[in-house]
Formats: sequence, structure tokens, C-alpha cells
Amino acid sequence: MTTFTGLIGKKPLLSYVDPFPGLLGTDKRCGPCPRCGGSGEFGPRCVYNGRCFQCHGSGNWNYNVSTHRRWARQEAYQRDYAEEIAAKQHELREAEIAHAQLVNDWL
Ligand SMILES: [Zn+2]
Repeated sequence: MTTFTGLIGKKPLLSYVDPFPGLLGTDKRCGPCPRCGGSGEFGPRCVYNGRCFQCHGSGNWNYNVSTHRRWARQEAYQRDYAEEIAAKQHELREAEIAHAQLVNDWL
């Protein structure tokens, strides 16, 4: 069973599907450019005609298949445990507010 460790700890992933079955983790596959997010545009028009320096305006970038799999695991984790993650985020926010209140009272 594939697992992922995040905000609510290590969990088995129910909806994870290998995005590239049969490929090695070191094989390369295209994904959105990390600089421009896949748009191909970055910065003002006066510089390199507004094109992204990293992908030269294509919006594409090669990643290891292992990176694509990590993203897919992360997405499955957020999908499978959306309610628990939201509850945990709420709990953390409440604790933060309580702590701020405590510090405030003390000062
Ligand atoms: Zn780019």
C-alpha cells in the first residue's frame, strides 16, 4: 500500500494511481515549468519579449517520473483525507489564537 506523510501523519493512500506505470523513477516526463507555472510567460514584455527564461516560452519542463509520483501521492493524500486535514488545520489555528491570547495577557 502506498503511503504519504503529511499534516495528519503517515496514511495509506486510497485513491493513488501511478501516473506513469512501468516507467523508472529516473525517467523524464514533461510537467509545468517551475518558474512560470506552465504559462510560458514571466516578467515584463521588454525583457526577452515576456518569455520565461527557464522554458523559453514553452511552459514545459522535464521532471523525473519520481517527482510526478510524489505530486500524485500528495494530491491523493489531500483528496483522501480532506476532512481530517481541514480539522487539523482548524485545530492548529485555534491553538495559535489561544497562544497569542496567552502572550497578550501576559504582556
Ligand atoms: Zn517557464
